[in-house]
Amino acid sequence: MAKVLIIGAGGVGGVVTHKCAQVPEVFSEIVLASRTEAKCKAIAAQIDRPIKTAQVDADNVPELVALLQREQPQLVINVALPYQDLTIMDACLEAGIHYLDTANYEPPGEAKFEYSWQWAYQDRFKDADLMALLGSGFDPGVTNVFTAYIKKHHLDEIHYLDIIDCNAGDHGYPFATNFNPEINIREVTAKGRYWEDGAWRETEPLSEKRSFDFPAGIGPKNIYLMYHEELESITKHFPEIKRARFWMTFSDNYLKHLEVLGNVGMTSIEPVEFEGKEIIPLQFLKALLPDPASLGPRTKGKTCIGCVARGVKDGKEKTVYIYNICDHEECYREVKSQAISYTTGVPAMIGAKMMLEGKWMQSGVWNMEQLDPDPFMEDLNKYGLPWEIHTISEPTAVDE
Ligand code: NDP
Repeated sequence: MAKVLIIGAGGVGGVVTHKCAQVPEVFSEIVLASRTEAKCKAIAAQIDRPIKTAQVDADNVPELVALLQREQPQLVINVALPYQDLTIMDACLEAGIHYLDTANYEPPGEAKFEYSWQWAYQDRFKDADLMALLGSGFDPGVTNVFTAYIKKHHLDEIHYLDIIDCNAGDHGYPFATNFNPEINIREVTAKGRYWEDGAWRETEPLSEKRSFDFPAGIGPKNIYLMYHEELESITKHFPEIKRARFWMTFSDNYLKHLEVLGNVGMTSIEPVEFEGKEIIPLQFLKALLPDPASLGPRTKGKTCIGCVARGVKDGKEKTVYIYNICDHEECYREVKSQAISYTTGVPAMIGAKMMLEGKWMQSGVWNMEQLDPDPFMEDLNKYGLPWEIHTISEPTAVDE
């Protein structure tokens, strides 16, 4: 029985609050805090258990510390934006509270994400006997646990890893992003990067493309190579991996809009002067685009996120494919959100549950693949993200 404080009342925050509320035997008290308290109250009103709400500016450490000292939760689930990771970690250290997030720190003025800033907290969390669990969403998160599970049960050595994220959903808008537009567009327009033979290789944005045949009736879709943060921690913790890549599906329509917006400068994070005021084009674009939380009632179709891993088992070459299929409309019926927020919010709840039940709790800063995958994989099946694993004997689009 534990009290949890969730920070961030966006698409993911809504799902985490719903899912924690479904497990009262672990999350006996829930506080939801964010910049705009009205959004917390709107989520709380959807749930028939008391959810306490609060206003907080998570960029402000003293304000966070005051909230944590007042509420005294056992754990903070950070589902605000990646810009707030370090201030929330600082506040947790000061108030003596465990920490979890779903995305690694990004400096606001630079489209760059890497774990170095958060890994630098290792000694401080260890010395304080506190745990920080990093990246407990789907990707990163479940994809890291999938990799650990494959290594534990299906391959003696993983040589080639391809993480493939497919959203085959349709929201009916000409252009919208499925999660925070600013974070999403910064990620998609960045250069691609993958790990091969002990070094990072860079590619021009979205220049590597394949057609991958997805299961569950989704069928063939174009996938594009991108950099994604779990590649950094997975290749560090499984140094046997010769090549690790991340792929995501995009429709031609999405890419056409993005190209035009990029060409006219709307996706830039460089400030520009407009009518005597400095604005950041990407932040202005965010204000024009549909709020990802509003896509829930209109999105139909499925997501399929998983890992294709090739390696060796008992001396023989073997390839496995492990994935989850999630249906946008079913997610909406359950927690009033589409599958992108759902597939992030459920693993955040399960990661928190692993910590609070003592199955994963240990001091220091941890990535998901470093911990025992089995109890987490069991809970994915139990709490809405069932998975399948198959041995693949035919060649796939990511063999080369
Ligand atoms: P949203 O933009 O929908 O929600 C973010 C929330 O954080 C909003 O409620 C926002 O408040 C709040 N917030 C922003 N800044 C502050 C601040 N300074 N103080 C307090 N609250 C603040 O984003 P999502 O819900 O889509 O994403 C949440 C997180 O999940 C992000 O870090 C994202 O990168 C991550 N994510 C991870 C995935 C994974 O698989 N690992 C996949 C998808 C997302 P306000 O409402 O006032 O703007």
